[in-house]
Amino acid sequence: MALSNSMRLLPEAALARDAARDPARDALPADVLQMFLTEHECRFEEPPSPSHLSSLSCRVFYLAFSGLTSGAARGWAGGLPGRAAPALARLVRLAVTPSVVKKQLMNVQKHADSLDETEISILWSSNEVLVRHLLDERPVELAVRLARDHPLSPPQLTTSGGPAHNTQWVTVYLAYQNGRVFDAIRMWTEALERKVSAAPVCYICYCRLHPACGQLPRLTCHQCNNKFHTDCIHKWFASSHKSNCPLCRSTF
Ligand SMILES: [Zn+2]
Ligand SMILES: [Zn+2]
Repeated sequence: MALSNSMRLLPEAALARDAARDPARDALPADVLQMFLTEHECRFEEPPSPSHLSSLSCRVFYLAFSGLTSGAARGWAGGLPGRAAPALARLVRLAVTPSVVKKQLMNVQKHADSLDETEISILWSSNEVLVRHLLDERPVELAVRLARDHPLSPPQLTTSGGPAHNTQWVTVYLAYQNGRVFDAIRMWTEALERKVSAAPVCYICYCRLHPACGQLPRLTCHQCNNKFHTDCIHKWFASSHKSNCPLCRSTF
């Protein structure tokens, strides 16, 4: 509601798009952009002038999308009627995203060297952070890409290597709890480390992570409850010509 009102009070130049301009070079006039990015003094003792009101609206808009309320602001944006939605997405992309993404990436850069066994690289031009973490000496990778209209569209996460694990909570943390990318990376590496150290050792290869595929032992012997890697137990069956548990000898 407050956002609908502030959207109505935005300066015309914030919403007007120069149709002649190449969409890739679309930008807000510098003075308008400053209205979004600069702190405003609130003076309520006098009736605010129309220009003061519209610059306050810019700031309200920026704060709504850049702070703790960005999840709610995204929900509000999702309910906008057809024509308003692209105008809003453009405004977020031009007035909010660059500053919010820059803060996130600079925070990652500031702390990048503080995580053990972790290499972090930042791709500034694509709003992306690449993480390479050594888990039991095996590389596991995470890429976090912030959307071009962040935080309107949620971040995209991809992982490779290492044991299968759920990264949905990282997306939720970043998209709905206004989480910092660096904190998400730290929590992700810690969760992986915890998962691996809590896992049992496979008694065929004596590893937690399978040396070739990096998965955790998942097949359980129903007699002795020991766990084995799928690959290891299949090799064991093939070489012993039996399908017995290598530890308790009961039929698997
Ligand atoms: Zn194994
Ligand atoms: Zn057994």
